[in-house]
Amino acid sequence: MVAMPSEYLALDPEVERFLSNEHNLYINGEWIPAQSGKTFTTLDPSTGSHLADVAEGDQVDVDCAVTAARKAFDAGPWRNKLTAAERSKLIWRLADLIEERAEVLAQLDSLDNGKPFTTTRDVDVPYSAEHFRYYAGWPTKIEGATVPVSAPGMFNYTVREPIGVCGLIVPWNYPLLMAAWKIAPALAAGNCIILKPAEQTPLSALYLAQLFEEAGFPPGVFNVVPGFGEIAGAALVEHPCVDKVGFTGSVEVARQIVRSSADTLKRISLELGGKSPNIVFADADLDNAIVGATWAVFGNNGQSCTAGSRLYVERPVFDRVVEGMADQARKIDVGPGMRINQPQLGPVVSQEQLDRIMGYVRSGINDGGTAVAGGQRMGGDLSAGYFVEPTIFVDISDEMRIAKEEIFGPVVCAMPFDDPNDVLERANRSEYGLAAGFWTQDLQKAHRLAGALQAGTVWINTWGCTDAASPFGGYKQSGHGREMGKEAIDLYTEVKSIWIDTGTR
Ligand code: NAP
Ligand code: MG
Repeated sequence: MVAMPSEYLALDPEVERFLSNEHNLYINGEWIPAQSGKTFTTLDPSTGSHLADVAEGDQVDVDCAVTAARKAFDAGPWRNKLTAAERSKLIWRLADLIEERAEVLAQLDSLDNGKPFTTTRDVDVPYSAEHFRYYAGWPTKIEGATVPVSAPGMFNYTVREPIGVCGLIVPWNYPLLMAAWKIAPALAAGNCIILKPAEQTPLSALYLAQLFEEAGFPPGVFNVVPGFGEIAGAALVEHPCVDKVGFTGSVEVARQIVRSSADTLKRISLELGGKSPNIVFADADLDNAIVGATWAVFGNNGQSCTAGSRLYVERPVFDRVVEGMADQARKIDVGPGMRINQPQLGPVVSQEQLDRIMGYVRSGINDGGTAVAGGQRMGGDLSAGYFVEPTIFVDISDEMRIAKEEIFGPVVCAMPFDDPNDVLERANRSEYGLAAGFWTQDLQKAHRLAGALQAGTVWINTWGCTDAASPFGGYKQSGHGREMGKEAIDLYTEVKSIWIDTGTR
């Protein structure tokens, strides 16, 4: 029996069983301990207490997993025997299993990450299943072209082939969903995979491996090696038999990945952070904009690469918008993600993340900013967990650290503006370019701004929508490539151009 606080929802029996088992690596269809015998602990961020010990993969284990994936790719049935329709069915079956075990996956991600169970149950898990469904349709639709070349007598066509062995490195903010975003297109394209989940949230990845097994995927197609980024993650990046690395996480680690992939020149796609500008014009439906801007930043506790953390408000409505948001922020119910009476937000993921966020809050205050809502770590019953009050700063200038750097926590900087051209220039003055949004009822302004904002995603009178069918990724230092939609198929395939002399010259 795994002991949980009495205020927690009852654990699903399958979660109880899973938590009390060993958490080994999943390599070549088998569950094996790390060769070093080492494990690491994953915590419940709502209480800071032990949740599970997980096998800690290192270079040796990564090498085993890569060998298994390589063999599965080069000689196994996945690529060489199964038809596109059969691969499709397997991916669809996996989506079915995710749906069948939604409760289990949702509890595991809620416990491991801290976010409310209702969020993982109603958002993260169904979106993950949907993502696999969308890509389940792709194996039968990945086409090449016949190319009208001008070389006399020559016939030329292209085919799209899987890249090979993909090392997928994911963060902790949406543990299952971020993994699904990468795994589904990689599988649809016919690749084999080694997944390295974040050290803070390895559990749903391991449970997912169980579902791969149940779905009947051939061994070696999907492998999971939990462990630390600088060891297991780095080993994947450096491994000569890994053909592609798909990464979501920080810019700092992304730079390291690009540097250390130089020797093998493997394919790299990067989905990184942001400091996304959210602009409220005076002509907006303000009630809608206030709620939208509040959740644009506080959704998932600000631990979202698209958090609307730079808020620009047209001066005549600045006070009204900030007061409206502050009023909402103070009322947000924050508590353990598995609390029976479900909170709206949970804790942030770790002590380290808490310290980072509180460091930014202090820097905002030292630089002259004022927190009109929040600004404190939460105490009382919540003092053992990593809880932060939803925080709104004013008296901020664009040059302050808190207004420029990604905080990845529930903190927004609200800044007034007078001139729409000026705000556009300020919004674009960032090294990031993941997302941007604005609130207005002026159609011309909307189209003009949507074209001029330097961001991979622009939201107008809404925030945060993503869909398996719509490409997602960043301009500038927010990344390389686009995930989702047909763009992700491009990320996980190589194009081959084939020529034949038809002898008709
Ligand atoms: P991170 O270090 O970039 O972690 C993301 C993933 O990369 C994790 O699986 C991590 O493993 C792995 N990793 C770390 N170092 C690596 C290396 N040298 N080679 C290969 N893989 C490596 O992010 P974090 O430390 O969890 O969070 C720090 C900041 O990153 C956040 O405050 C936020 O600003 C940003 N972030 C962005 C996103 C996003 O969605 N774009 C998501 C998470 C974090 P470990 O788990 O062992 O570290
Ligand atoms: Mg955890």
